[in-house]
Amino acid sequence: MARRVLVTGGAGYIGSHTVLQLLLEGFSVVVVDNLDNSSVVAVQRVAQLAGEFGKNLAFHRVIVVSCFVTRGAETGFWFDIRDKEALEKVFATSKFDAVIHFAGLKAVGESVQKPLIYYKNNIIGTITLLEVMAAHGCKKLVFSSSATVYGWPKDLPCTEESPLCAMNPYGRTKLMIEEICRDIHHADGDWKIMLLRYFNPVGAHPSGQIGEDPCGIPNNLMPLVQQVAVGRRPTLAVFGNDYSTKDGTGVRDYIHVVDLADGHIAALQKFFEDPNIGCEVYNLGTGKGTSVLEMMAAFEKASGKKIPLVMAGRRPGDAEILYACTVKAEKELSWKAKYGIEEMCRDQWNWAAKNPWGYRSPDPPN
Ligand code: NAD
Ligand code: UDP
Repeated sequence: MARRVLVTGGAGYIGSHTVLQLLLEGFSVVVVDNLDNSSVVAVQRVAQLAGEFGKNLAFHRVIVVSCFVTRGAETGFWFDIRDKEALEKVFATSKFDAVIHFAGLKAVGESVQKPLIYYKNNIIGTITLLEVMAAHGCKKLVFSSSATVYGWPKDLPCTEESPLCAMNPYGRTKLMIEEICRDIHHADGDWKIMLLRYFNPVGAHPSGQIGEDPCGIPNNLMPLVQQVAVGRRPTLAVFGNDYSTKDGTGVRDYIHVVDLADGHIAALQKFFEDPNIGCEVYNLGTGKGTSVLEMMAAFEKASGKKIPLVMAGRRPGDAEILYACTVKAEKELSWKAKYGIEEMCRDQWNWAAKNPWGYRSPDPPN
C-alpha cells in the first residue's frame, strides 16, 4: 500500500512542488494549508500535473468553525495548524507514515515588525502539530529549516556543524524549532526527525503550471525580479554593492525548487530505509555561490528581458556570503542538486511569462 504523508503548507511554493514529486513517487498525500500565502489553484494544478497519481491527493482547508475568519473580501473557513481540534480530525481520519512540515510565515522584515505573530504561527503551530502527531503515534517529521540559522557565517561553506546564530525573529523561530525537535528526540527515541536547512529556493516546475506566487509584496529576490520582468514593477533594488564579494553584491546558494522537492523525497526514503535515524540535520543547497548581479545576468539571458537595477543600501541583517557544504546530504541521502542557475532562471521565466499575475492569471496553455 502507498505510504501516506501529511504535508502542512502544501499549497505554498516549496510545498506544492514537493507534493507533486511525492505523488509521482507513488506516495498518498494529504495537504493542510490555511492559504495565508498561497492559492488553492496550486493544489488543483498539482493534482492535474500528477496525472493518474492525482487521485492520491487530498486537501483540507475547511475543517472547524473555530477557524472562521474574514480576510479581505474573502470570508470562509480556513485550516490552521494552530487549531488542535482541526488537526485531531485530520489525524483521526487518516494514519500517516510521516509529516512534512512547511507551514509557517517566512518574511524576515515582517518578522522584525510583528515578532509575536511569527512566534505564534511558527512555534505554537509546530508545537501543536508535534503534540497531535505524538498523540496519534506518528513520530516521523521532516521540517523546513533554513540557512538563515547560520547568520553571518565566518567560515564557508556552511557545514551542518557551523555555529548557529539567528539574526531576526523569523530565523529565531527556525532555530527554536530545531531545538524543540532535538529535545523531543532526546526525550523519546521513537521520534525520527529530519531538519532540512534550505539555501535559496528559486525557479519553478518546468511545466510553468506551478511556481512562487507570494501574497502582497515579495521579500525574496527572484519573485521581485519576475515581477519586474512582466512589468508589474519598474526596477529591482540591489541591496548593497560594497560587500567583499566578486562584484560587491551579496552571494547566495540558489537551488532549483524541483531539486529541493526531490531532497524531501530522499529524506523520507531515509526514514523508511535506515533504522538508525535520530534527529538529523542536512543542508539542501548546490554548494555554489552566485552574486545578485550574476543572477540578474542569467535571468536576462533566459528571459530576453532587461531588468533595470537601482543600487540601494545594504538590507539590515543580510549576510554577505552564504553557501552550503553539500557533502553530508550527498553521502547520507544520496541526493545532489541537478540544476544550475541557467535552468533555474529558464523555469522561473517560463512560470512568470505564463502566469504574470501568479495564480490569478488566466489558465496558462499546457
Ligand atoms: P510559502 O509561504 O509559499 O508556503 C508556506 C505555506 O504555509 C503557505 O501556503 C501558507 O498559506 C501556509 N501556512 C502558513 N501558516 C500556516 C498555518 N498556521 N496553518 C496552515 N498553513 C499555514 O513558503 P515557502 O517558500 O514554500 O516555504 C515553506 C517553508 O520553508 C517555510 O516554513 C519557510 O520558512 C521555509 N523556508 C523557505 C525558504 C524560501 O526561501 N522560500 C528558505 C528556507 C526555508
Ligand atoms: N536582494 C536584493 N534585492 C532585493 C531582494 C534581495 O538585492 O529586492 C539580495 C539580497 O540582499 C541577497 C540576495 O538578493 O543578497 C538574496 O536575497 P533573498 O531575500 O532572496 O534571500 P536571503 O537574503 O534570505 O538569503
